[in-house]
Amino acid sequence: MEKSSEMGNKVIIFSAPSGAGKSTIVNHLLGLHPELEFSISATSRAPRGQEQHGVEYYFYSTDEFRQMIADDKFVEYEEVYAGSYYGTLKSEVERIWAKGHVIIFDIDVQGGVNLKRIFGDKAFSVFIQAPSVEVLRERLIGRGTDSAEAIERRVAKAASEMEFAAGKFDYVLVNDDLATSKAEAERILDEFLKN
Ligand code: 5GP
Repeated sequence: MEKSSEMGNKVIIFSAPSGAGKSTIVNHLLGLHPELEFSISATSRAPRGQEQHGVEYYFYSTDEFRQMIADDKFVEYEEVYAGSYYGTLKSEVERIWAKGHVIIFDIDVQGGVNLKRIFGDKAFSVFIQAPSVEVLRERLIGRGTDSAEAIERRVAKAASEMEFAAGKFDYVLVNDDLATSKAEAERILDEFLKN
């Protein structure tokens, strides 16, 4: 893939309910396209475990974050949990585009819809979904990381996110068979990058 400066104003957005296979597909695309670069969000929550400033997130205090909001430093931000802000810095978008790279967002469904509205034609938004709520439930059970109640909560959230997402994304990728979905994701990404 040729690296050209006109690539440096594009954004690709992936959103999905949990269990839809988003991370696997996004990581597959990152392995194929070195010009894709993740946007690192800013947050006012504390780092967890080994998380480092400038790697998983840019970490700020709540006061610093609010000051940056007042200074109009954000493309978008949200108070995701009470007192915990998350947002995309304008400087982050500029940093990635300045390298001629394409920004990739791996973000929740509401965030994906917001970013598409903000970036408009510069953005291509993809909603990845499991073929059905039943399949999603089976996958979450198979993953073995959640309790039965947690699975039911996630399934209910996924069902409402699927309803909310309908018609709001440029493309809906139904992840039935992973190999087919990876190939489909490659095809839509290539199409978007060459236009
Ligand atoms: P966590 O604290 O688990 O890393 O992330 C919590 C939530 O924050 C996730 O649902 C994630 O999608 C959301 N989030 C992460 N970065 C951003 C961002 O830049 N903007 C918005 N609106 N939400 C974000």
